[in-house]
Amino acid sequence: MNTEKSKSLFEEAKKIIPGGVNSPVRAFKSVGGNPIFVQRGSGSKFYDVDGNEYIDYIGSWGPHLFGHNPSFIKKALLNAIENGTSFGAPTEIEVQMAKLITELVPSVEMVRMVNSGTEATMSAVRAARGFTGKEKIIKFEGCYHGHGDFFLIKAGSGALTFGVPTSPGVTKGNAADTLIADFNNIESVKKLIQANKNEIAAVIIEPVVGNMGTVRSNDSFIKELREICSNENIVLIFDEVMTGFRLAKGGAQEILGITPDLTTFGKIIGGGLPVGAYGGKKEIMEMVSPSGPVYQAGTLSGNPLAMNAGLAALNQIKNHPEIYTQLEEKGKYLEDGIKSGIKSIGKNYQLNRVGSMMTLFFTEEPVVDYNSAVKSDTKLFAKYFHEMLNQGIYFPPAQFEAMFISTEHTKEDLDKTIEVNLKALKSL
Ligand code: PMP
Repeated sequence: MNTEKSKSLFEEAKKIIPGGVNSPVRAFKSVGGNPIFVQRGSGSKFYDVDGNEYIDYIGSWGPHLFGHNPSFIKKALLNAIENGTSFGAPTEIEVQMAKLITELVPSVEMVRMVNSGTEATMSAVRAARGFTGKEKIIKFEGCYHGHGDFFLIKAGSGALTFGVPTSPGVTKGNAADTLIADFNNIESVKKLIQANKNEIAAVIIEPVVGNMGTVRSNDSFIKELREICSNENIVLIFDEVMTGFRLAKGGAQEILGITPDLTTFGKIIGGGLPVGAYGGKKEIMEMVSPSGPVYQAGTLSGNPLAMNAGLAALNQIKNHPEIYTQLEEKGKYLEDGIKSGIKSIGKNYQLNRVGSMMTLFFTEEPVVDYNSAVKSDTKLFAKYFHEMLNQGIYFPPAQFEAMFISTEHTKEDLDKTIEVNLKALKSL
């Protein structure tokens, strides 16, 4: 595969952009080699600047539930652009957006739009602190909630991949207010609450994790977590930036049957444009400015282009609920195919999947939390990743991430992926 143009662009980029990229995992640093510079995408595929075609399983890291450049989003954007790009004054579409979110996700009684997942989680925690009058939060080791200072403590995703789960630049003060529990381990949560009685404002969790690779929370764990938070006057925040509108129209909370107090969104909710949102119980959301004293604002929040793209995506979800059954079928098909490849080479590598989110870990022990995820052989993963890439299959270029299936992945795409997977596994 010729990737000369990507290579020379990367050399140029490294001189003027830190690491040559605008978000770390794009740089292929943990898997080695040269990142692919993308030119355009369509459906399940994208094409690089050298003209190579890839079946894409990152979907811009989650937003592209309907594949690249779906016609209904393109149309919505073209219509919107006729009227102007931004006003900084209320627009009707923001009301429509809020109505549709509150309809699709029943726990969300009120919602505020922001511009990224990071903004959503930072703002949700601030609202929880304002509401409870308490300051500390609990997060789980290996979960990623964006790059807000107080989240970059034992974080997942790129922070984990690059070996800086706790980033320099985060103050001791910030770190002291973030307590770390073990995912799927309710005793670790109870201990922290006991030791910090009446000091914890919020527990934030990815109810199905994508950022240590795909890991589902146990039913009993998440149920007990809900009960404890209610009993202790702690705001339970589900970070559904990745899982929202992906696992079900009502997100992970719908499939787990658990109602959080606040939920954060991003990715799919923007239809491929920069959008985030946070919402939940009315009594908490009414703390947010200007109805309450907790300040949060944004020059481009509720931006008309972003709202039109996002609303087009959410309307498609509302009008086609059958997509989730189809995504589950595709996910199962790919899972079975990849697993049969693993079996045929005599290994028991773990493949975790929830709906259209999936991660292959190069470890033979079940992956249920951070400690079991990091047992994966990342050198083997890197080799596997490049074998797949060279055959035109673009998996996430880092171990501790989820891959995503879209409605546009065809049986032919999945069959090719299964075939290449077998070749890649045999070559390891
Ligand atoms: N929360 C979760 C669960 C995420 O997966 C991400 C991004 N991958 C974020 C928050 C941060 O979102 P953004 O990158 O849009 O700031």
